[in-house]
Parts: sequence; C-alpha cells; structure tokens
Amino acid sequence: MSNAQNIVILGGSYAGLSVAHYFLKHILPTLPKNNGASYHVYLIDSSTHYYWRIAAPRALVGKDMIQQDKMFLPIADGFKQYDSSIFTFIQATATSMDTNARTVTIEHASNSDSQTLPYHALVIATGTRTPSPLLSLQGDYKITQNALQEMWGKLSSAKTIVIAGGGPAGVETAGEIGEALNGVAGFFQSRPANPKAKITLLSGSTKLLPMLRPALAKQAEVYLNRVGVDVVHNAKMQSVDSAGAQTLIHLDNGSTLEADIYIPATGVTPNSAFVPANLKTDKGYVKTNGKTLRVDEAGPRVYAAGDVGSYTRGGVMDIYDAIPVVLTNIKRDLQHAATAGASSPSPNNNNNNNNEKQSELAGNAPGSDRTYKANLKETQLVPVGRSKGV
Ligand SMILES: Cc1cc2nc3c(=O)[nH]c(=O)nc-3n(C[C@H](O)[C@H](O)[C@H](O)COP(=O)(O)OP(=O)(O)OC[C@H]3O[C@@H](n4cnc5c(N)ncnc54)[C@H](O)[C@@H]3O)c2cc1C
Repeated sequence: MSNAQNIVILGGSYAGLSVAHYFLKHILPTLPKNNGASYHVYLIDSSTHYYWRIAAPRALVGKDMIQQDKMFLPIADGFKQYDSSIFTFIQATATSMDTNARTVTIEHASNSDSQTLPYHALVIATGTRTPSPLLSLQGDYKITQNALQEMWGKLSSAKTIVIAGGGPAGVETAGEIGEALNGVAGFFQSRPANPKAKITLLSGSTKLLPMLRPALAKQAEVYLNRVGVDVVHNAKMQSVDSAGAQTLIHLDNGSTLEADIYIPATGVTPNSAFVPANLKTDKGYVKTNGKTLRVDEAGPRVYAAGDVGSYTRGGVMDIYDAIPVVLTNIKRDLQHAATAGASSPSPNNNNNNNNEKQSELAGNAPGSDRTYKANLKETQLVPVGRSKGV
C-alpha cells in the first residue's frame, strides 16, 4: 500500500463504478499536489464481476435470452487504463467502519483475511439486495450465475410457478416467464390458448406496481393475464417450506400454494450491515444529507451514492443525477482539505448541523455545495413480456 491519501469506494456497481471512473478521470488530475500530496483510489466489491441486474428478469428465463458475457462484466478489466499507482480493485466485503479512526475493515474473498483500510474520503455505494440471488448479487457473481443455471434447468419442466411481490421486479419476472412458457393470447383473447404452466403472481397489496397510477397497474395486470399469469391481490407470502421437490408457500390469508418454482421478489434490503447503527435509518439505509449527499454524521468526506443512500427511492436515473453532485462535493472537500492541511485520520467533529459554518468546521469545503434535487416524477417503466410494458 502506498503512502497516498486513500479514496475508498465501497461497491462496484452502477454507483460505485461511476464514482470511481469520474474521480480518476476528472477529479484526481485537478487536485493540488502541494507538499507531495497524492491520492489512491481503492474500489472494493464482494464480487469480481458487475451484474447487469436490470436484465435479470429476462436472463433468468433462458441461457440464450441475453448474451452471458453481457450479464457479468469483470470489474478490473474496466479499469485497465489507470496506473496501479492510483487505482486498486480489491474483491472483498466491507465488514465494519470506524468513523473516529476513519477506517473500514474489509474481508478479502480470496483468503477471508481482514484488512483495515484508512480513508481520507469514503463513498458508500453498496446498494441493495433482493431475497433471491437471481435478481441481485449476494456476494461473488458465481452465486448468481449458479442460481440462473439452476433456474434454466427447472423452468423447462415446471408446471406451477409462484412469484411473490407486485413491484417492478415481480411483474417483470412474471411477464418474462409467462411469455416464454405460455406464449401470448391471440387476437380477441385475454389468455393464451394452451398454457404450459400455471403462473401466480402475489401482489401483496390491492394493486400491482405501488409507484404507478391505478390505471397503469390495471393495464399491467391485463398484459400479465395475456401471457398466462394470474394475479392474486391482498395475500402475502408468510413462510415457505419444502415438500420433496415442491415449495409450499404459506399465505397470510391462511391458504397454501404449491409450486415447482418459487421466486421471492418482495423488495430489497440495503447492504449496510457494516455501517454503524447511528448512521442508518430504521430501514437500514445510510442517512444521507439529501442535498449534498454527504453522510453528515460520519465526519468529513464521507458520502453515499446509489440505492444504499436514504436520499433516493432507488433506480439508475437517480444515480445519474447523484454522481455529479457527489463528485463535485468530493472535489471541493478534497481541495479544501489539501489547502487547509487536513490529514487522515481526523476526528469526527460534525454535529449534523447543516448550517454552512458548522459544515465548514466539520471539514467540508466553504461556499456553495452542488446540490441534489430528487426527481419525484412517475419515472418507472416496467416491461411486461417482450413487447408490452407500462
Ligand atoms: C430485477 C431488477 C430490475 C431493475 N430494473 C431497473 C430498471 O429498469 N431501471 C432502473 O433505473 N433501475 C432498475 N432496477 C434498480 C437498479 O438495479 C438499482 O437502482 C441499481 O442496481 C443500484 O445500483 P447501486 O450501484 O446503488 O447498487 P447495486 O447495483 O445494488 O450494487 C451494489 C454493489 O455493492 C456490492 N456490495 C454489497 N455489499 C458490499 C459490501 N459489504 N462490501 C463490498 N461490496 C459490497 C455488491 O456486490 C454490488 O456490486 C432494477 C432492480 C432489480 C432488482
């Protein structure tokens, strides 16, 4: 490890990859080099490969639906253009974080060794996970790759399929499986003539797609029916167990469904187990200043980007809006630290007061921050099968 100031980025997906490239290309060359100051970017991810999880609902239907070398991309290959003196990718999982010592502890995937990494600036971009490894990474990408292969094998003979969750992931997954197995209803028909599998989608609510208008939710249900998916409202999966090769899905209305394949798509959990409790909301998201995207209570030069932050409803569009804000404020804070002579580690002296003077005292750059503005429009687009969507 060099003596440079560490810029540590946790998570190498949409947010973390964008932060790393933007920093290396546009911020690092502009930072003052007075007194021999230098910087080194550490990008940490539990997986060697990025997963194109937006394509997961289609990819899980069959091997040939999406080119496999597009589903998983080696992270290190995307950073070959940067010199090893300024960039290192480590396959490791962040296991704890100390805001006073300004360190993160990571566990290396190769040998389970722990390493404590000091940070001068830290970006938390560890995203969220779904209950099923089909729809998001849960460690190394091979776990997801194996889950996809297992699914392709099972789908060819499945007669009953239950998907729990009426959000976009559940609707999209049900639509893709429905069209692949049952085909699409003909003209003037509302259901396919010869469905191969009975597919049930549990909405868990009174309607599908909570973020969209009722009319669009209803339209999605019509499209799902046309590929042979039955939508059941007002029933939630309560517990699951197995009976031989079958999965038994016990619902909160007292009934039980049997399925050859069960896919839970019941929302996401933030990947924040390593973050101290005082920096998290009650749902586990990293408490982020909704304007500056700093994690104010973590001390200077700590930021959240992407779905793990409390500032966002999630989604890639919000990440596009957040990246320039995070990076502009990192640049300002690092320039300020370089000229003010701040060094790492430094004490956590921020009282979570957003007043500019307090912010400056906490180690942030003086003057105007770049600010984030949440886009609260109805921006969700949900494909249902291969040619329809709402
Ligand atoms: C099925 C599905 C379909 C979707 N479709 C869309 C869509 O069409 N449009 C859209 O805008 N959004 C969509 N989304 C949401 C979109 O995928 C997320 O907004 C996006 O992935 C968030 O990116 P992120 O970088 O914040 O985190 P993530 O993509 O969740 O990535 C987090 C990264 O952090 C790593 N990580 C986690 N914990 C640790 C740790 N402790 N230490 C080190 N590394 C760690 C993970 O391995 C992962 O690489 C979809 C989501 C799903 C599940």
